[in-house]
Amino acid sequence: MNEFLFAMILTELEDAVGKENCSTRTIDRVTHSVDYYWLSRMWADRGCRMPEADFVVCPENAEQVSKVVKIANYYKISVTTWGAGGGTQGGAIPVCGGIILDTKRMNKIYEVNTDGMYIECGTGAIYKHIEWAANEVGKATMHYPSSLTCSMVGGFLAHRGIGVVSTKHGKIDDMVLKMEVVLPNGDLIETCSDPKHAAGPDLNQIFIGSEGTLGIITKAQIRIYDQPEERRFRGFLFQDMSGAFKASRELLQKFKPSVMRLYDEAETALLLKNRWHQAWPSHEGAVRSCYAGI
Ligand SMILES: Cc1cc2nc3c(=O)[nH]c(=O)nc-3n(C[C@H](O)[C@H](O)[C@H](O)COP(=O)(O)OP(=O)(O)OC[C@H]3O[C@@H](n4cnc5c(N)ncnc54)[C@H](O)[C@@H]3O)c2cc1C
Repeated sequence: MNEFLFAMILTELEDAVGKENCSTRTIDRVTHSVDYYWLSRMWADRGCRMPEADFVVCPENAEQVSKVVKIANYYKISVTTWGAGGGTQGGAIPVCGGIILDTKRMNKIYEVNTDGMYIECGTGAIYKHIEWAANEVGKATMHYPSSLTCSMVGGFLAHRGIGVVSTKHGKIDDMVLKMEVVLPNGDLIETCSDPKHAAGPDLNQIFIGSEGTLGIITKAQIRIYDQPEERRFRGFLFQDMSGAFKASRELLQKFKPSVMRLYDEAETALLLKNRWHQAWPSHEGAVRSCYAGI
């Protein structure tokens, strides 16, 4: 890109999001070129530089996102959406340069609604923060992935996230009611909030799992649930995997636990090694089994 064009685009982006929210500094470009994708991390560890964006912008709301997208369209440069950079598939890496659109300023929690049982928030909110907001009114999001503290609402929507208690509560696509999305041409749309509505396709499902390729999700309404009154944990040991599969199938057909995990012999040994041997040191054979936990 020639200097003149670069300066023109920069000026327009600064007008769109504010000068202080627009960067071309090396440190910002480099830190937005490595996410949790193993390849990007390996290259970074070896001192190589990944493809970098020319501009890093941090809009505050959908209107600013729309302006950025329209600028990118006009100059025919690419836009890559960046959440918290916790993605493991490299979706946030700006392989074609252009603009990194960092969503971290769109982190407001607009409403915690205990009548409609939802939270409305910007998609730059870290998921843990909306869980805390729900907890404050005695509710919970029931979305507990390992990356709860390091990924954003937008990131989970964009990659169809799944949490630990998904056996009962489903994936993020079961939890989102409505989304505000900036389309690739800069237009702003809101999806319909009626769950399972009969009139037309469910637009939420188009954007969920699209990894930012079909639109930039700027706001979302996420379901909240009553906190469970009681939590019970059970584990069962089986002689072999086929017995464990059979029992698991029957359990799932009869009732729906919040989560159910089946571990093979190697994982069972790993899981139980410390605790089991401390509690029952002579019973070596028990860890050579399969384990189902609910
Ligand atoms: C230690 C660890 C544990 C993990 N455990 C789990 C787990 O248990 N369950 C699970 O589901 N995932 C898990 N992940 C994966 C991670 O949570 C997801 O990949 C998630 O998408 C990352 O969110 P992010 O906000 O960091 O997004 P980023 O990494 O910044 O972006 C991920 C993708 O989403 C797109 N994107 C981000 N925000 C938006 C937006 N607002 N609109 C449109 N597109 C957007 C990006 O362009 C990119 O394609 C784990 C990751 C790590 C590092």
